[in-house]
Amino acid sequence: MATRTLVFGLLVVTLLAAVAGAEELSKRRLFIALDAVPYQIAADVMNPALGDEALFQGFEGPVRLVSTFPSSTSVALPGILGPIGLERSPGYEARFFDWQEGKVRGGGAVSYGRIEFPWRDFFDWGRKGVAGSAIEAVKPVKSGIKRLRNAMDDFVRSDKDEFWIYSAATDIAGHVLSPQAHVDFFKALDEMILEARQASPDRPFDVVVFSDHGMDGGEPLINVFKPAKRALKQAGYRSKKRLKGTEDVVLTPFGLVSNFEAYTVDENKGRVAEILAAVEGVDLCAYKLEEGWRIESHRGNATLQQKEVDGELWWKYEPHHGDPLQFQDLVPAMEEEGQVRDGWLSDAACFEATVVAENPDPFYRIAHAFELTTNPASVICSASRGYMYGAPHTGVLAQIGKGHLRWTHGALNREATLGFLFSDVAGWEAPEAVRFDRAILPFHDAAEGEPETKLSKSSQ
Ligand SMILES: [Zn+2]
Repeated sequence: MATRTLVFGLLVVTLLAAVAGAEELSKRRLFIALDAVPYQIAADVMNPALGDEALFQGFEGPVRLVSTFPSSTSVALPGILGPIGLERSPGYEARFFDWQEGKVRGGGAVSYGRIEFPWRDFFDWGRKGVAGSAIEAVKPVKSGIKRLRNAMDDFVRSDKDEFWIYSAATDIAGHVLSPQAHVDFFKALDEMILEARQASPDRPFDVVVFSDHGMDGGEPLINVFKPAKRALKQAGYRSKKRLKGTEDVVLTPFGLVSNFEAYTVDENKGRVAEILAAVEGVDLCAYKLEEGWRIESHRGNATLQQKEVDGELWWKYEPHHGDPLQFQDLVPAMEEEGQVRDGWLSDAACFEATVVAENPDPFYRIAHAFELTTNPASVICSASRGYMYGAPHTGVLAQIGKGHLRWTHGALNREATLGFLFSDVAGWEAPEAVRFDRAILPFHDAAEGEPETKLSKSSQ
Protein backbone atom coordinates (compact mmCIF):
# COMPACT_ATOMS: atom_id res chain seq x y z
CA MET A 1 0.00 0.00 0.00
CA ALA A 2 2.73 2.45 1.03
CA THR A 3 4.71 1.61 -2.13
CA ARG A 4 1.65 2.19 -4.29
CA THR A 5 1.05 5.59 -2.72
CA LEU A 6 4.67 6.46 -3.27
CA VAL A 7 4.55 5.36 -6.90
CA PHE A 8 1.29 7.26 -7.40
CA GLY A 9 2.81 10.31 -5.72
CA LEU A 10 5.86 10.16 -7.93
CA LEU A 11 3.64 9.83 -10.97
CA VAL A 12 1.70 12.97 -9.98
CA VAL A 13 4.92 14.87 -9.38
CA THR A 14 6.30 13.74 -12.74
CA LEU A 15 3.09 14.68 -14.52
CA LEU A 16 3.02 18.09 -12.87
CA ALA A 17 6.61 18.64 -13.86
CA ALA A 18 5.82 17.62 -17.42
CA VAL A 19 2.85 20.00 -17.55
CA ALA A 20 4.97 22.82 -16.13
CA GLY A 21 7.69 22.02 -18.62
CA ALA A 22 5.25 21.98 -21.51
CA GLU A 23 3.85 25.32 -20.39
CA GLU A 24 7.35 26.74 -20.30
CA LEU A 25 7.93 25.47 -23.82
CA SER A 26 4.68 26.81 -25.23
CA LYS A 27 5.35 30.30 -23.96
CA ARG A 28 5.68 32.63 -26.92
CA ARG A 29 8.69 34.88 -27.23
CA LEU A 30 8.59 38.44 -28.52
CA PHE A 31 11.78 40.16 -29.68
CA ILE A 32 11.70 43.92 -30.16
CA ALA A 33 14.62 45.81 -31.73
CA LEU A 34 14.46 49.58 -31.22
CA ASP A 35 17.01 51.07 -33.58
CA ALA A 36 19.54 53.47 -32.02
CA VAL A 37 18.17 53.73 -28.47
CA PRO A 38 21.13 54.38 -26.13
CA TYR A 39 21.71 52.34 -22.99
CA GLN A 40 21.42 55.44 -20.83
CA ILE A 41 17.81 56.14 -21.83
CA ALA A 42 16.78 52.58 -20.98
CA ALA A 43 18.63 52.84 -17.66
CA ASP A 44 16.88 56.13 -16.89
CA VAL A 45 13.32 54.89 -17.48
CA MET A 46 13.94 51.61 -15.63
CA ASN A 47 15.80 53.18 -12.69
CA PRO A 48 14.58 51.32 -9.55
CA ALA A 49 14.79 54.63 -7.65
CA LEU A 50 11.68 55.70 -9.58
CA GLY A 51 9.65 53.11 -7.61
CA ASP A 52 6.20 52.61 -9.12
CA GLU A 53 7.08 55.10 -11.85
CA ALA A 54 9.85 52.88 -13.22
CA LEU A 55 8.92 51.32 -16.55
CA PHE A 56 9.11 47.61 -17.42
CA GLN A 57 8.48 46.32 -13.91
CA GLY A 58 9.42 42.66 -13.65
CA PHE A 59 12.08 42.92 -16.32
CA GLU A 60 15.79 42.25 -15.70
CA GLY A 61 18.30 44.78 -16.94
CA PRO A 62 18.95 46.92 -18.84
CA VAL A 63 22.31 45.51 -19.87
CA ARG A 64 24.83 47.58 -21.83
CA LEU A 65 24.90 46.03 -25.28
CA VAL A 66 28.31 46.81 -26.76
CA SER A 67 27.66 47.29 -30.47
CA THR A 68 29.85 46.69 -33.48
CA PHE A 69 32.17 49.19 -35.14
CA PRO A 70 30.76 50.91 -37.14
CA SER A 71 27.98 51.39 -34.60
CA SER A 72 25.22 51.40 -37.21
CA THR A 73 22.39 49.13 -38.18
CA SER A 74 23.57 47.35 -41.34
CA VAL A 75 26.61 46.14 -39.43
CA ALA A 76 25.22 45.93 -35.89
CA LEU A 77 22.15 43.80 -36.60
CA PRO A 78 24.14 41.09 -38.44
CA GLY A 79 26.66 41.37 -35.59
CA ILE A 80 23.97 40.77 -32.96
CA LEU A 81 21.80 38.31 -34.90
CA GLY A 82 24.51 36.60 -36.98
CA PRO A 83 24.97 33.89 -34.34
CA ILE A 84 21.32 32.90 -34.81
CA GLY A 85 21.51 32.92 -38.59
CA LEU A 86 21.21 36.46 -39.98
CA GLU A 87 23.48 36.90 -43.01
CA ARG A 88 25.84 39.84 -43.40
CA SER A 89 25.02 43.04 -45.32
CA PRO A 90 26.82 43.86 -48.58
CA GLY A 91 27.94 47.22 -47.19
CA TYR A 92 28.29 49.31 -44.05
CA GLU A 93 25.48 51.47 -45.38
CA ALA A 94 22.95 51.33 -48.22
CA ARG A 95 25.59 52.92 -50.48
CA PHE A 96 28.75 50.85 -50.62
CA PHE A 97 31.70 49.73 -52.72
CA ASP A 98 31.25 46.35 -54.41
CA TRP A 99 34.65 44.64 -54.75
CA GLN A 100 33.40 42.17 -57.33
CA GLU A 101 31.97 44.83 -59.62
CA GLY A 102 34.75 47.27 -58.75
CA LYS A 103 32.36 50.18 -58.26
CA VAL A 104 30.05 52.04 -55.91
CA ARG A 105 26.50 50.67 -55.67
CA GLY A 106 23.26 51.32 -53.83
CA GLY A 107 21.71 54.18 -51.97
CA GLY A 108 18.96 55.06 -54.45
CA ALA A 109 15.23 54.40 -54.16
CA VAL A 110 15.37 51.81 -56.97
CA SER A 111 18.39 49.92 -55.70
CA TYR A 112 16.77 49.75 -52.26
CA GLY A 113 14.63 46.89 -53.48
CA ARG A 114 17.26 45.40 -55.77
CA ILE A 115 20.25 45.06 -53.48
CA GLU A 116 19.70 42.62 -50.70
CA PHE A 117 20.39 43.62 -47.11
CA PRO A 118 19.29 40.41 -45.34
CA TRP A 119 18.52 42.16 -42.04
CA ARG A 120 15.63 44.06 -43.65
CA ASP A 121 13.79 40.77 -44.23
CA PHE A 122 14.72 39.15 -40.94
CA PHE A 123 11.90 40.69 -38.92
CA ASP A 124 8.23 39.68 -38.91
CA TRP A 125 7.45 43.36 -38.62
CA GLY A 126 10.03 45.77 -39.93
CA ARG A 127 10.68 48.51 -42.36
CA LYS A 128 8.86 48.65 -45.66
CA GLY A 129 11.02 50.50 -48.15
CA VAL A 130 12.48 53.98 -48.13
CA ALA A 131 9.10 55.70 -48.39
CA GLY A 132 8.27 54.56 -44.86
CA SER A 133 11.33 56.21 -43.42
CA ALA A 134 10.67 59.47 -45.28
CA ILE A 135 7.20 59.67 -43.75
CA GLU A 136 8.57 58.78 -40.34
CA ALA A 137 11.09 61.58 -40.59
CA VAL A 138 8.32 64.18 -40.41
CA LYS A 139 6.74 62.99 -37.18
CA PRO A 140 8.98 60.17 -36.02
CA VAL A 141 7.61 59.78 -32.51
CA LYS A 142 3.92 59.84 -33.35
CA SER A 143 4.17 57.68 -36.47
CA GLY A 144 6.77 55.41 -34.89
CA ILE A 145 4.60 54.67 -31.85
CA LYS A 146 1.63 54.04 -34.13
CA ARG A 147 3.65 51.55 -36.16
CA LEU A 148 4.85 49.88 -32.98
CA ARG A 149 1.23 49.51 -31.89
CA ASN A 150 0.32 47.92 -35.24
CA ALA A 151 3.24 45.56 -34.84
CA MET A 152 2.10 44.55 -31.35
CA ASP A 153 -1.44 43.94 -32.63
CA ASP A 154 -0.01 41.70 -35.33
CA PHE A 155 1.96 39.82 -32.72
CA VAL A 156 -1.13 39.24 -30.56
CA ARG A 157 -3.08 37.95 -33.58
CA SER A 158 -0.18 35.89 -34.93
CA ASP A 159 0.17 32.18 -34.15
CA LYS A 160 3.96 32.30 -34.32
CA ASP A 161 5.82 31.08 -31.25
CA GLU A 162 8.53 33.60 -31.90
CA PHE A 163 7.87 37.09 -33.23
CA TRP A 164 10.40 39.75 -34.23
CA ILE A 165 9.60 43.48 -34.38
CA TYR A 166 11.97 46.16 -35.68
CA SER A 167 11.45 49.89 -35.17
CA ALA A 168 13.28 52.27 -37.53
CA ALA A 169 11.46 55.33 -36.19
CA THR A 170 13.51 55.36 -32.98
CA ASP A 171 16.62 55.93 -35.13
CA ILE A 172 15.03 58.82 -37.02
CA ALA A 173 13.68 60.33 -33.79
CA GLY A 174 17.12 60.11 -32.18
CA HIS A 175 18.79 61.83 -35.14
CA VAL A 176 16.32 64.66 -35.72
CA LEU A 177 15.10 65.28 -32.17
CA SER A 178 17.33 63.71 -29.52
CA PRO A 179 17.60 60.40 -27.67
CA GLN A 180 15.24 61.92 -25.08
CA ALA A 181 12.48 61.30 -27.63
CA HIS A 182 13.01 57.59 -26.94
CA VAL A 183 11.42 58.01 -23.51
CA ASP A 184 8.02 58.38 -25.21
CA PHE A 185 8.59 55.14 -27.15
CA PHE A 186 9.43 53.33 -23.92
CA LYS A 187 6.34 54.66 -22.12
CA ALA A 188 4.13 53.56 -25.00
CA LEU A 189 5.83 50.17 -25.32
CA ASP A 190 5.50 49.46 -21.60
CA GLU A 191 1.73 49.99 -21.89
CA MET A 192 1.51 47.98 -25.11
CA ILE A 193 3.17 44.96 -23.51
CA LEU A 194 0.75 45.08 -20.54
CA GLU A 195 -2.21 45.40 -22.92
CA ALA A 196 -0.99 42.53 -25.09
CA ARG A 197 -0.75 40.34 -21.98
CA GLN A 198 -4.29 41.27 -20.97
CA ALA A 199 -5.52 40.58 -24.49
CA SER A 200 -4.07 37.07 -24.56
CA PRO A 201 -4.22 35.59 -21.04
CA ASP A 202 -4.20 32.02 -22.34
CA ARG A 203 -1.14 32.61 -24.54
CA PRO A 204 1.60 33.81 -22.22
CA PHE A 205 4.71 35.34 -23.71
CA ASP A 206 8.02 36.70 -22.59
CA VAL A 207 9.85 39.62 -24.11
CA VAL A 208 13.38 40.59 -25.13
CA VAL A 209 13.84 44.27 -25.98
CA PHE A 210 17.13 45.58 -27.34
CA SER A 211 18.76 48.22 -29.49
CA ASP A 212 21.56 47.84 -32.04
CA HIS A 213 23.70 50.85 -31.06
CA GLY A 214 23.59 54.19 -29.26
CA MET A 215 23.49 57.84 -30.32
CA ASP A 216 25.97 60.63 -29.67
CA GLY A 217 25.91 64.39 -30.08
CA GLY A 218 24.10 67.42 -28.76
CA GLU A 219 25.74 70.25 -30.69
CA PRO A 220 25.54 70.81 -34.49
CA LEU A 221 27.84 68.22 -36.08
CA ILE A 222 30.60 69.20 -38.51
CA ASN A 223 30.88 67.19 -41.73
CA VAL A 224 34.40 65.90 -42.41
CA PHE A 225 33.62 64.52 -45.89
CA LYS A 226 34.98 67.46 -47.88
CA PRO A 227 38.16 67.93 -45.80
CA ALA A 228 38.83 64.18 -46.04
CA LYS A 229 38.37 64.23 -49.81
CA ARG A 230 40.58 67.31 -50.10
CA ALA A 231 43.37 65.73 -48.02
CA LEU A 232 43.44 62.70 -50.31
CA LYS A 233 43.56 64.91 -53.38
CA GLN A 234 46.40 67.00 -51.99
CA ALA A 235 48.36 63.78 -51.40
CA GLY A 236 47.94 62.87 -55.07
CA TYR A 237 45.04 60.44 -54.85
CA ARG A 238 41.96 60.64 -57.04
CA SER A 239 38.56 60.21 -55.46
CA LYS A 240 36.56 57.95 -57.76
CA LYS A 241 33.47 55.77 -57.96
CA ARG A 242 35.50 52.97 -59.53
CA LEU A 243 38.89 51.52 -58.70
CA LYS A 244 40.99 51.51 -61.85
CA GLY A 245 44.39 53.10 -61.30
CA THR A 246 46.61 52.63 -58.27
CA GLU A 247 46.09 56.28 -57.34
CA ASP A 248 42.30 55.83 -57.09
CA VAL A 249 40.53 55.90 -53.75
CA VAL A 250 36.81 55.31 -53.49
CA LEU A 251 34.75 57.09 -50.83
CA THR A 252 31.08 56.23 -50.31
CA PRO A 253 29.45 59.15 -48.48
CA PHE A 254 25.76 58.52 -47.81
CA GLY A 255 23.88 59.03 -44.55
CA LEU A 256 25.23 61.41 -41.95
CA VAL A 257 27.07 59.10 -39.59
CA SER A 258 30.24 59.22 -37.51
CA ASN A 259 32.23 56.55 -39.35
CA PHE A 260 33.49 56.31 -42.92
CA GLU A 261 35.37 54.01 -45.22
CA ALA A 262 37.90 54.22 -48.03
CA TYR A 263 38.51 51.56 -50.70
CA THR A 264 41.80 51.27 -52.50
CA VAL A 265 44.52 48.81 -53.52
CA ASP A 266 46.39 47.11 -50.68
CA GLU A 267 49.64 49.06 -51.23
CA ASN A 268 47.81 52.34 -50.49
CA LYS A 269 46.11 51.35 -47.27
CA GLY A 270 48.82 52.57 -44.91
CA ARG A 271 49.28 55.94 -46.56
CA VAL A 272 45.54 56.55 -46.99
CA ALA A 273 44.93 55.72 -43.33
CA GLU A 274 47.65 58.17 -42.26
CA ILE A 275 46.24 60.93 -44.45
CA LEU A 276 42.65 60.45 -43.29
CA ALA A 277 43.59 60.09 -39.61
CA ALA A 278 45.34 63.48 -39.79
CA VAL A 279 42.17 65.27 -40.95
CA GLU A 280 40.60 67.44 -38.27
CA GLY A 281 37.51 65.71 -36.93
CA VAL A 282 38.81 62.20 -37.60
CA ASP A 283 39.55 60.32 -34.40
CA LEU A 284 41.25 57.24 -35.83
CA CYS A 285 41.53 55.01 -38.89
CA ALA A 286 42.25 51.29 -39.03
CA TYR A 287 43.16 48.74 -41.66
CA LYS A 288 43.96 45.09 -41.89
CA LEU A 289 47.52 43.82 -42.09
CA GLU A 290 48.71 40.44 -43.30
CA GLU A 291 48.77 39.54 -39.60
CA GLY A 292 46.57 41.72 -37.42
CA TRP A 293 45.53 45.33 -37.78
CA ARG A 294 47.04 48.79 -37.73
CA ILE A 295 45.52 51.87 -36.09
CA GLU A 296 46.44 55.43 -37.10
CA SER A 297 45.35 58.38 -35.02
CA HIS A 298 46.36 61.91 -34.04
CA ARG A 299 47.19 60.25 -30.72
CA GLY A 300 49.77 58.00 -32.38
CA ASN A 301 49.72 54.60 -34.04
CA ALA A 302 49.75 50.97 -33.04
CA THR A 303 49.48 47.42 -34.30
CA LEU A 304 47.05 44.91 -32.96
CA GLN A 305 47.36 41.14 -33.11
CA GLN A 306 45.10 38.34 -32.05
CA LYS A 307 45.67 34.72 -31.12
CA GLU A 308 43.55 31.90 -29.81
CA VAL A 309 44.79 29.52 -27.13
CA ASP A 310 42.54 26.65 -26.01
CA GLY A 311 39.47 28.48 -27.26
CA GLU A 312 40.41 31.72 -25.46
CA LEU A 313 41.19 34.93 -27.33
CA TRP A 314 44.26 37.03 -26.55
CA TRP A 315 45.34 40.42 -27.92
CA LYS A 316 48.69 42.08 -28.40
CA TYR A 317 48.44 45.86 -28.58
CA GLU A 318 51.74 47.48 -29.55
CA PRO A 319 51.83 51.27 -29.76
CA HIS A 320 54.70 52.47 -31.94
CA HIS A 321 54.07 56.04 -31.03
CA GLY A 322 51.54 57.46 -28.54
CA ASP A 323 48.52 55.36 -27.58
CA PRO A 324 45.81 55.64 -30.25
CA LEU A 325 43.28 53.44 -28.41
CA GLN A 326 44.01 54.97 -24.99
CA PHE A 327 44.57 51.51 -23.60
CA GLN A 328 48.01 51.61 -21.96
CA ASP A 329 46.69 52.99 -18.66
CA LEU A 330 44.52 49.91 -18.27
CA VAL A 331 47.34 47.40 -18.60
CA PRO A 332 48.91 47.61 -15.08
CA ALA A 333 45.60 46.66 -13.41
CA MET A 334 45.18 43.78 -15.85
CA GLU A 335 48.71 42.65 -15.08
CA GLU A 336 47.95 42.65 -11.36
CA GLU A 337 44.96 40.42 -11.99
CA GLY A 338 47.01 37.96 -14.01
CA GLN A 339 45.26 38.87 -17.27
CA VAL A 340 48.48 39.56 -19.19
CA ARG A 341 50.79 36.76 -20.38
CA ASP A 342 54.00 37.52 -22.26
CA GLY A 343 52.52 40.82 -23.37
CA TRP A 344 49.26 39.22 -24.55
CA LEU A 345 46.05 40.57 -23.01
CA SER A 346 43.08 38.36 -22.18
CA ASP A 347 40.07 39.17 -24.37
CA ALA A 348 37.56 38.83 -21.53
CA ALA A 349 39.59 41.23 -19.39
CA CYS A 350 39.91 43.71 -22.30
CA PHE A 351 36.15 43.68 -22.71
CA GLU A 352 35.49 44.21 -19.02
CA ALA A 353 38.10 46.96 -18.68
CA THR A 354 36.69 49.02 -21.56
CA VAL A 355 32.90 48.67 -21.38
CA VAL A 356 32.52 52.21 -20.04
CA ALA A 357 35.79 53.56 -21.48
CA GLU A 358 35.80 56.28 -24.14
CA ASN A 359 36.09 53.56 -26.81
CA PRO A 360 34.41 50.37 -25.55
CA ASP A 361 35.87 46.98 -26.53
CA PRO A 362 38.11 48.56 -29.20
CA PHE A 363 40.24 45.54 -30.20
CA TYR A 364 37.44 43.09 -30.91
CA ARG A 365 35.28 45.71 -32.61
CA ILE A 366 38.02 47.05 -34.89
CA ALA A 367 39.00 43.50 -35.87
CA HIS A 368 35.38 42.64 -36.69
CA ALA A 369 34.83 45.85 -38.68
CA PHE A 370 36.45 44.02 -41.60
CA GLU A 371 34.40 40.83 -41.12
CA LEU A 372 30.83 42.00 -40.64
CA THR A 373 30.13 43.00 -44.22
CA THR A 374 30.75 41.06 -47.42
CA ASN A 375 32.50 44.12 -48.94
CA PRO A 376 34.98 45.18 -46.25
CA ALA A 377 36.67 48.58 -46.41
CA SER A 378 40.38 48.99 -47.10
CA VAL A 379 40.48 51.65 -44.40
CA ILE A 380 37.77 52.39 -41.87
CA CYS A 381 37.69 55.58 -39.81
CA SER A 382 35.89 56.83 -36.73
CA ALA A 383 35.00 60.52 -36.51
CA SER A 384 35.81 62.53 -33.40
CA ARG A 385 32.95 63.58 -31.12
CA GLY A 386 31.23 66.63 -32.56
CA TYR A 387 31.89 65.52 -36.14
CA MET A 388 30.08 63.43 -38.73
CA TYR A 389 30.63 62.26 -42.29
CA GLY A 390 28.24 61.97 -45.19
CA ALA A 391 27.01 63.18 -48.52
CA PRO A 392 25.47 66.63 -48.47
CA HIS A 393 22.67 65.55 -50.84
CA THR A 394 21.81 61.87 -50.50
CA GLY A 395 19.75 59.90 -48.03
CA VAL A 396 16.91 60.81 -45.72
CA LEU A 397 19.25 61.94 -42.97
CA ALA A 398 21.23 64.16 -45.31
CA GLN A 399 17.96 65.92 -46.17
CA ILE A 400 17.22 66.50 -42.52
CA GLY A 401 20.85 67.36 -41.90
CA LYS A 402 20.49 70.39 -44.16
CA GLY A 403 19.52 72.11 -40.97
CA HIS A 404 21.93 71.21 -38.25
CA LEU A 405 22.10 67.56 -37.47
CA ARG A 406 23.06 67.19 -33.81
CA TRP A 407 22.85 63.48 -33.18
CA THR A 408 24.33 60.48 -34.93
CA HIS A 409 26.29 57.23 -34.46
CA GLY A 410 28.72 55.00 -36.30
CA ALA A 411 31.86 55.94 -34.37
CA LEU A 412 33.80 53.78 -31.96
CA ASN A 413 33.01 55.99 -28.96
CA ARG A 414 30.87 55.04 -25.98
CA GLU A 415 27.73 57.13 -26.57
CA ALA A 416 27.46 56.04 -30.21
CA THR A 417 28.18 52.45 -29.22
CA LEU A 418 26.24 51.43 -26.14
CA GLY A 419 22.81 50.02 -26.88
CA PHE A 420 20.71 48.15 -24.31
CA LEU A 421 18.97 44.86 -23.72
CA PHE A 422 16.35 43.93 -21.13
CA SER A 423 14.12 40.92 -20.76
CA ASP A 424 11.65 39.08 -18.54
CA VAL A 425 12.62 35.61 -19.75
CA ALA A 426 12.50 33.38 -16.64
CA GLY A 427 15.88 32.47 -15.22
CA TRP A 428 17.86 35.05 -17.16
CA GLU A 429 20.18 37.09 -14.99
CA ALA A 430 21.31 40.41 -16.42
CA PRO A 431 25.09 40.86 -16.62
CA GLU A 432 26.68 44.34 -16.50
CA ALA A 433 27.37 44.32 -20.21
CA VAL A 434 27.29 42.02 -23.19
CA ARG A 435 29.22 41.99 -26.46
CA PHE A 436 27.11 42.24 -29.62
CA ASP A 437 27.62 38.64 -30.75
CA ARG A 438 26.71 37.18 -27.35
CA ALA A 439 23.65 39.31 -26.65
CA ILE A 440 20.89 37.17 -28.15
CA LEU A 441 22.23 33.67 -27.42
CA PRO A 442 20.65 33.38 -23.95
CA PHE A 443 17.25 33.78 -25.63
CA HIS A 444 17.59 31.84 -28.85
CA ASP A 445 19.37 28.72 -30.08
CA ALA A 446 22.51 29.35 -32.10
CA ALA A 447 22.22 28.77 -35.83
CA GLU A 448 23.55 25.41 -36.91
CA GLY A 449 27.33 25.37 -37.26
CA GLU A 450 27.48 28.85 -35.80
CA PRO A 451 27.85 28.59 -32.03
CA GLU A 452 29.60 31.95 -31.90
CA THR A 453 31.08 34.61 -34.13
CA LYS A 454 34.72 34.01 -34.89
CA LEU A 455 37.15 35.86 -37.07
CA SER A 456 37.65 34.09 -40.32
CA LYS A 457 41.19 33.13 -41.14
CA SER A 458 40.90 34.30 -44.73
CA SER A 459 41.94 37.77 -45.82
CA GLN A 460 38.40 39.03 -46.34
ZN1 LIG B 1 20.90 56.11 -37.53
